Amino acid sequence: MATYDLLIKNGTIVTDQKTMQGDIAIKDGKIMEVSTNINADATQEIDAEGLHIFPGLIDSHVHFNEPGRAEWEGLETGSKSLAAGGATTFFDMPLNSTPPVVDKENLLKKKACADEKSVVNPRFWGGLVPENIDKLKELHDNGVIGFKAFMSPSGIDDFHHADDETLFKGMKEIASLESLLAVHAESTVICEQLAAEKQRNGQTTARDFVESRPIISEIEAVKRVISYAEATGCKLHIVHASSRKVVEVIEEAKKRGVDVTVETCPHYLSLTVKDLEEQGGLAKCMPPLRDEDEVDELWNAVKNGEINVIGSDHSPAPASMKTITDNFFEGWGGISGAQSTLNILLTEGYFKRNVPLETIVKLTATNPAEIFNLTTKGKLAAGFDADITLVNLNEDFVLNKEDLMYRHQHSPYVGRTYKGKVKKTIVGGNVVFDNGEIIENK
Ligand code: ZN
Repeated sequence: MATYDLLIKNGTIVTDQKTMQGDIAIKDGKIMEVSTNINADATQEIDAEGLHIFPGLIDSHVHFNEPGRAEWEGLETGSKSLAAGGATTFFDMPLNSTPPVVDKENLLKKKACADEKSVVNPRFWGGLVPENIDKLKELHDNGVIGFKAFMSPSGIDDFHHADDETLFKGMKEIASLESLLAVHAESTVICEQLAAEKQRNGQTTARDFVESRPIISEIEAVKRVISYAEATGCKLHIVHASSRKVVEVIEEAKKRGVDVTVETCPHYLSLTVKDLEEQGGLAKCMPPLRDEDEVDELWNAVKNGEINVIGSDHSPAPASMKTITDNFFEGWGGISGAQSTLNILLTEGYFKRNVPLETIVKLTATNPAEIFNLTTKGKLAAGFDADITLVNLNEDFVLNKEDLMYRHQHSPYVGRTYKGKVKKTIVGGNVVFDNGEIIENK
C-alpha cells in the first residue's frame, strides 16, 4: 500500500507567512507533510510545476437560499461555483432559506440538505432576530459558526432586523455562549428617511440610491453596535464594510481593546457607482458600491492590515429580480460573485497593487479559520485538513457567462479579464474541481 493517498509535487506553496517551492503529502484527508522534497509513494500524484498552491478559501459570507428558495441559488450550484473559484469551505447566512435558520429544527434541515448536496465543506450562521433570543443556545449547541443580525431590514420578510433591544439582549446571551455576532451595520433611520425623500422627489437613479445609503449610515450603526459589544463583552464581526472610513471606526475600537473584526468584499474592492450605473441590478448591493477613491482607500486598508476577512457576500437572485429599468430602489440588492473572489484579489490586489500573496492567504483562509475557531483549517501545514487550491498565476482569461456555475449565470464580473486561474480545488484530499470541470466524488 502506498504511503500517501495524494502527493502534490513541485508547486509554489503560499502560506500566510511565506512563499516557497515544495511538495505536499496527503493521507486520509489530512496534510501529513509539507517540505521542499518529499520522496514517498502515493496512490495519486499531481505535478504542480508552474502552479501556486494556496490553502482553500474559506468564504465566511454566502447566501445559498436552500432549502425553500432554491430557485434563487442552491447548495449544489453555489458550492460548485465556490469550488470553481478555489474555495473549500463556506459559511451560509441564516436568512435566505425558508424557513430561516433561527432555531435548531431549521438548522438541522439546512445541514441535512448541505450534507447531501455540497461539494465543499458547509458551515452555518444562526440568525439573531427579535423572536428567537431563547433559541440562541440551541443553535450554538448544534454547531453554528456564530450569529448574524441585521441592523436594517434584511429584504426577507420572515427574517426581521434586530432593534436595539434585541441587539443588546442578544449580545449578552451570545457573550455568555462565548460565540460571536456578525452584523449588517446600516442605520435604518438614516437609510429609510433618505430613501423616502428621494423617491418622493422622483429621484431614482443609481446615484440617488447610493446617496440614500451613505457611509455615515454605516458609521453610525457600527459605532452603536461597538458600544453594545463593549458593554456586553460580546465578540463582534462587522460584515461588508464598504469604506475605509467605516474600517477606521473599527480600528479605533480594536485599539481600545474591543474584540471586533471586520470583513470587506471583492465588489467594494473592484466595482464603483459607475458599474452600478452601467450594469444596473447586477451591481446592486447593500451597502452600495462607492466611488473610485473609496476603492483605493479600501485597498490601502487591506495593505495596512486593517481588514480581517474577505468574504464574497454572494447573494444571488433570478434575472427577473435583478432587472432595473429606471428606478434603482427596485430590484434585489445582492451580487453574484462567489466564484470570482480569488480572481479579483489576485488581479486587482496582487498584480495591480502589489498586495502580497501571503496577505491574500491571511484574509481568505488563515484569519477566518482563526476568528471562527476552525482549528484544522486555513493553513498548509501538517495536521491540517487537505483543503487546497492550485492556481496558475500566469494564465489570463476573460470570465464568460458560461463559466459560471451559479444557478443563474449572471454576475457583474462577466466580460472582465482576470490574471491567475484556478486549476484544481481539493477538499479533504479529494479533487473536486479540475480544469474547468467539477469532479463528483460521491
Ligand atoms: Zn450578506
